[in-house]
Amino acid sequence: MPQSRTLLLLAGDGIGPEVTRQVRRVVDWMNRARGAGFDVVEELVGGAAIDRHGVPLTDETMAIAHQVDAVLLGAVGGPRWDDIEFARRPEAGLLRLRKELGLFANLRPAKVFSPLIDTSPLKPDVVEGLDLLIVRELTGGVYFGEPRGITELPDGGRRGVNTQVYTSHEIRRVAETAFDIARRRGRRVCSVEKANVMESGRLWREEVTALAAESHTDIELSHMYADNCAMQLVRNPRQFDVILTDNLFGDLLSDEASMLTGSLGMLPSASLGPADPATGRRPAMYEPVHGSAPDIAGRDMANPIATLLSFAMMLRFSFDLGAEADMIEAAVEKVLSGGIRTQDIMTDGMARVSTSVMGDSILRALERMPG
Ligand code: NAD
Repeated sequence: MPQSRTLLLLAGDGIGPEVTRQVRRVVDWMNRARGAGFDVVEELVGGAAIDRHGVPLTDETMAIAHQVDAVLLGAVGGPRWDDIEFARRPEAGLLRLRKELGLFANLRPAKVFSPLIDTSPLKPDVVEGLDLLIVRELTGGVYFGEPRGITELPDGGRRGVNTQVYTSHEIRRVAETAFDIARRRGRRVCSVEKANVMESGRLWREEVTALAAESHTDIELSHMYADNCAMQLVRNPRQFDVILTDNLFGDLLSDEASMLTGSLGMLPSASLGPADPATGRRPAMYEPVHGSAPDIAGRDMANPIATLLSFAMMLRFSFDLGAEADMIEAAVEKVLSGGIRTQDIMTDGMARVSTSVMGDSILRALERMPG
């Protein structure tokens, strides 16, 4: 293993520090027990940074984020900072990180852990063994396209405009990411758009098809219209391995897919930027899907699993430590099989534990794991 792997830990607000603390324990264990060589820097983001520095992310912290191999973020925000103007709010720190690191590919897995199958709103036989990943384009499309705005019309009415726009470069770089990731999984990519009614969708389909034929012939590529995909995700979600889609459809489909698994406290995510042509290194930020949960913050009640699974994604995608990522996922599965639950995933007959006891249990499961 190389000498040092650098990691910036931004705990943030609310339950952020509680859940990232459990990741820190796992990192320390990996350094001790497996010589992983993680060098961790901890800094402030969001409301915590506003309280200390007056801004949600300092230039110094941004500079560290550019230097490290990967960033792990807890959560930002809370009622204490709700009255501050938008540009200085906690969320602005997160947006700055995403923007300045150029994170154009957002990865959201939906995996059902078998002990939690009953928390899914779908029937067990539909979701059993579900393990799919959505790759969403994050920096283009209708959320950023020009022209945009609301104008007054001569008849006294108004007109609202947004523009769905994609270039071949934007499509190809996110498709490249999806193909690379599929290669580490089931080698299948389903590309999703609405080529039947949108020119940007037709371009999307043509570019993805051409890229696959040029350099990814080992991947099985299929195409699906977004409306059909929304339906297939609840009808037969196991048909998917990797779903590749744009910013708008990805926003909707990733929320839909994540709910197949039941609980917000179990959902990790990753966002990746462009690879450096010289080193191959790519900026990356990993974070749970959930927010800062002010209603339970400071009470040692939050589920740390989403953040731990985000760290597992980091091991896989930023450090090529697939075996170690598998270990964390297996440890989580083992602890859940043993009936250990935080309150958000609690069901009858299980043992309800705190954030730190969930962390203890996962660490113990890791320590007992062979290899
Ligand atoms: P939330 O995700 O924080 O909470 C929604 C509900 O889920 C709450 O009842 C909460 O207790 C529960 N929950 C969330 N994570 C949990 C966990 N790990 N374990 C157990 N229960 C959990 O969303 P919200 O309440 O809409 O937002 C709260 C704050 O978080 C707001 O300030 C919002 O802006 C911010 N937020 C931040 C992010 C982020 O940092 N990426 C994302 C979403 C919301």
